[in-house]
Amino acid sequence: MGTRVSLNGGIQVEVGGTRFMLDPKGSAKADYTFVSHAHVDHMHRPSGGERIIASDETRDLALARGYDLGDTVEEVEGVELLDSGHILGSRAIRIGDEVYYTGDASGRERAFLGKCRTRGARILIMETTYGSPEYVFPQTARLVRDVNRLIGSAFDRGRPVVLMGYPLGKAQLLAYYFSSWAPLYYHTSVAAMNRVHADYGVRLKEGETIDPASEGAVLPDGPWVMIAPMSSGRSKAMAHLRSRHGALLVAFSGWAVGGGYSRSLGVDYTFPLSDHCDYPELLKLVEAVAPETVYTTHGFAAEFARDLRNMGFSARTISGYQSSISDYVKGG
Ligand SMILES: [Zn+2]
Repeated sequence: MGTRVSLNGGIQVEVGGTRFMLDPKGSAKADYTFVSHAHVDHMHRPSGGERIIASDETRDLALARGYDLGDTVEEVEGVELLDSGHILGSRAIRIGDEVYYTGDASGRERAFLGKCRTRGARILIMETTYGSPEYVFPQTARLVRDVNRLIGSAFDRGRPVVLMGYPLGKAQLLAYYFSSWAPLYYHTSVAAMNRVHADYGVRLKEGETIDPASEGAVLPDGPWVMIAPMSSGRSKAMAHLRSRHGALLVAFSGWAVGGGYSRSLGVDYTFPLSDHCDYPELLKLVEAVAPETVYTTHGFAAEFARDLRNMGFSARTISGYQSSISDYVKGG
């Protein structure tokens, strides 16, 4: 029986008569549904009766965010879950030696996170968020040193610093790298994710929990560090921290490679600390899987597929599909 890759309210893969849905947006009819990690753009609320493949970490992080995945399984015959290095519990899935799907993946070790583990497969379905050659991320150690310098000079002037990133994943890396500064505050949404990390042995420094947007939030004068979700510097809470406390707003995202990101976010500084592969790492990932066919999704999907075709791969974007007619990948 062949292998079929198609769109059906998400990426649908049929291998040897077994149907898998990969990170669907809603409940789907399939033998198995795979949830790669607990970022909200990769989760759905199952309607019941779905057999969900996810790591235990993903199940628990999802539940802490209000997504009950129910009883999940990590082991299914013929299926292999591999650490994708993106956030705690993130997994890539390999179905036989036919299909390897990355979910979101990182190409480098950071703090308590490893990098994406790869194995050979005939068909590679990959995220290409930063699949354009200008996206080359700096060495993490250098970035951490630069940020520590920035915080140090702010503290010398008595100014607090707000470090912003996604509350799940990026915020825990920020806590790991920059918690030597005190006093340390965690936004409530970050603290909730920190607790699940602690359950899995990732112990981050304790800090005071605060929601700067709430009425009763009181912060001291003088320097402190807060780890908070990504937010516009023009939001009410952030504008207040700036005007009342003189806080410096610092955002962390791979998009900081491009110019103008600080201005568009309305923050003071941005640093390209990312939980995704940069362009060279995406290419390395393709080399490691050595597929016959590549499907790209997210970000620069069309551009990256074109670059791969120029290198001799059979590659196309998955969003370019005719979703009504499933696309047939000839099976072996
Ligand atoms: Zn993600």
